[in-house]
Amino acid sequence: MAYHVMTRIGPQQYVSEQGAYGYLIDFLKSCSATRVLFLHGTKSLKKALRYLPRVNELDIDVVDRTFSGECSYQEVDRVAQDAKEKHVDVIIGLGGGKVLDTAKAAAFQTGGVPFVLMPTMASNCAAWSALSVFYKEDGRCVGHRIFPNQSNLVLLEPRVILDSPYDYFVAGIADTLAKWYESESLLRQVEQNHLSIKYARASATMCRDVPLKHGVQAVRDMKKGILSDAWQLVMETNIMAGGLVGGLADQYGRATAAHSVHDALTVFPETVHLLHGAKVAYGIMVQLALERKWEEIRRLIPFYSALELPANLHALRLGRRSKQDICRLAEQAVTKDKTIHLLPFTVTADSVYEAIIRLEALTAETSQNE
Ligand SMILES: [Zn+2]
Repeated sequence: MAYHVMTRIGPQQYVSEQGAYGYLIDFLKSCSATRVLFLHGTKSLKKALRYLPRVNELDIDVVDRTFSGECSYQEVDRVAQDAKEKHVDVIIGLGGGKVLDTAKAAAFQTGGVPFVLMPTMASNCAAWSALSVFYKEDGRCVGHRIFPNQSNLVLLEPRVILDSPYDYFVAGIADTLAKWYESESLLRQVEQNHLSIKYARASATMCRDVPLKHGVQAVRDMKKGILSDAWQLVMETNIMAGGLVGGLADQYGRATAAHSVHDALTVFPETVHLLHGAKVAYGIMVQLALERKWEEIRRLIPFYSALELPANLHALRLGRRSKQDICRLAEQAVTKDKTIHLLPFTVTADSVYEAIIRLEALTAETSQNE
């Protein structure tokens, strides 16, 4: 039987403060670890190195593995195989979302080796969630898998994340914002008075309120390298609040329209250079237009322009595309597999097309008035 709501709250332990990596030593001692597999990206290791504790001095063997660049089935197999052959006691993943997803999947594949996640960017909630998204070696998404175990420990060193590319941080803000807009109507559909749904809603509210209140300041501070309260709050919201919505609400904390529009955009080569969150940002706008929430769109426009997030086709460099192409975009957004159909009303290619066009008119008019 499939359960109605399966709650997966989060990592067993979480430390987010300067010096957090130091806790790794205590953790490894508490597991009596003698050998660990350390999976990391090249750039992320460079940035994190000065904050990492010297594990070797503890008489712990480190099996050092550089991430191949994609969370593919092959990469997961390679890491899991290594972990099994070398009989490691703990898997540690340090880097962006794909490194963390690979570490999670490899730990699961080894039969449940404890694992530690150390995100070096705040561009998604990979450190928090109990799932991995898989890609082909050529970068195409091939699905995801949910695991029964969460990580044993998540360590955030704010100074490392502050030093990461700020466009990833902005993309993370947009993806987090989408958590509110996408899950809001789903969460409203749950009739039972599940406490976990109420918590999910509180978390989703933070996904909207924290970035809208502190996001612009946070990005400004990050560009200057200032580890401010605003930045820290937005950074943790990207990683934790976003992850909590899906973790607490399960199927009611899922993506809906914004991510379907994102997926549809990937068909157009003009959007290849854009980060996931930037495409999702446009998706939020289309979703709001579908829901006819024009006031909410007006509220978001100044926020989008401050963060340079695309609010219309023009900003996506799709402004010169023909009517036919835009129809194709709308059709792609409503193919059968898309979560856009989870919205509580019928969505068709025509209604998406109409939403796109009305959004163009509204955003053009608002920017003229600025
Ligand atoms: Zn996303």
